[in-house]
Amino acid sequence: MFGLIGHLTSLEHAQVVARDLGYAEYADQGLDFWCSAPPVIVEDLKVTSITGQVIEGRYVESCFLPEMLATNRMKAATRKIINAMAHAQKNGINITALGGFSSIILERFNLDQLGRIRNIKLEFERFTTGNTHTAYIICRQVEQAAPKLGIDLSKATVAVCGATGDIGSAVCRWLNGRLDVAEILLIARDRQRLQNLQAELGRGKIMALDEALPKADIVVWVASMPQGVEIDPEVLKKPCLLIDGGYPKNMATKFQSPGVHVLSGGIVEHALDIDWKIMKIVNMNVPGRQLFACFAESMLLEFEAIYTNFSWGRNQITLDKMDMIGRMSIKHGFKPLML
Ligand code: NDP
Repeated sequence: MFGLIGHLTSLEHAQVVARDLGYAEYADQGLDFWCSAPPVIVEDLKVTSITGQVIEGRYVESCFLPEMLATNRMKAATRKIINAMAHAQKNGINITALGGFSSIILERFNLDQLGRIRNIKLEFERFTTGNTHTAYIICRQVEQAAPKLGIDLSKATVAVCGATGDIGSAVCRWLNGRLDVAEILLIARDRQRLQNLQAELGRGKIMALDEALPKADIVVWVASMPQGVEIDPEVLKKPCLLIDGGYPKNMATKFQSPGVHVLSGGIVEHALDIDWKIMKIVNMNVPGRQLFACFAESMLLEFEAIYTNFSWGRNQITLDKMDMIGRMSIKHGFKPLML
C-alpha cells in the first residue's frame, strides 16, 4: 500500500475544504484549532497502471498549514508532520510521499533524528520526499514546453528560483548535464549555498530575483515560500515561460499577459482516471488525472515494490536517479503536464 501525506495551501482553503468534505467541526475554526487537530485519513485510493497493475493507497491530511510557519508556530508545524508520518505507519502504509512542505519541515527541523513518537518507532525507510520525480517532471516540462513557444534552449537563459533547494539543485544539475541551455541564473537567499552550487555546476550566475526576471526566457519556481510573490509581467521577456512548481504557488500574480506563459510545475497527468476527491480539493484542472509528481513517486515505488526512501535528505538527487524514476513514470502511464 502507498500513502500520500498532504496539506492545504492556507487557512481559508482549509476551511472551505473542511466544509465540502463534511467536517463541519473544522470549517469555522481558526489557526489555533488546526494547530491541535490530529492527522486524518481522508481517502482510500486505487490506481491502475497502463500495464494493468492495480495498487491501493491512502491519503493522509496532516492538518499542517503554511500560516504555521509564517506565524512562527514551529512546534505545531513539526508536530503535524511527525504525527501524520506515525499515523501512516500505524495504518500499514509501506511507502508514503511527503507532499509540499512536509519534507521541507522534516529537513529544516531535523525531525529524522527523532526515534519514537509515543509508542511508534518511526521507520524512515517507509517515506520518500518525492522530490526526484518532481525534479524530473519539471525538467521534462522545460524541455518539452520551450520549443512549443519558440524558445530555443541552446540560446535560452533559464532562471531557477530556489536553486539551492532539493528540487532546485536537481533541476540545475539536469539543465547543466542534460540540456544544452545557454545560461543558468541561480536565485536563493543564502549566498554560501549559492556559491557551493555554482562550484558544483562549474557555471551559473548568482542573481537577485528582480535582476534575473528581465533576463530570463524561462523561470523555474521551486522556492519554499509560504506565500507567493507579486510579479510585474511588464518586466518579463516575451515570450517567457514560467514554470511554477511551488506548493503553495511561488507566484501570487495571475497572468493574462501576451507572450507570458504559465505552466503548473511538477504536475503529472495519468493516462487513466483515478477515482479520488483529493485533487479536486487542491484545484487541479483535471482532478481525475492530474496530480503532484511527488505523490506519483510513492505510487511508482509501490508499482515497482521499491520500499525504500528513494528520495531523502537534501541536495542528493542524481541524474541517474532522475533517469530511473523517469523510466518508471513512463512505464506506468504518467506524463508531464503541458501548456
Ligand atoms: P527546499 O527547502 O529544499 O528548497 C527551497 C529553496 O527555496 C532553497 O533554495 C531556498 O534557499 C529557496 N528560498 C526559500 N525562500 C526563498 C525566497 N523568499 N526567495 C528566494 N529563494 C527562497 O524545498 P524543496 O526543493 O523541497 O521544495 C521547493 C518547492 O516545491 C516548495 O514550494 C514545495 O512545496 C514544492 N514541492 C512541489 C512538489 C510537487 O509535486 N509539485 C513536490 C514537493 C515540493 P534560501 O533559504 O537560501 O533562500
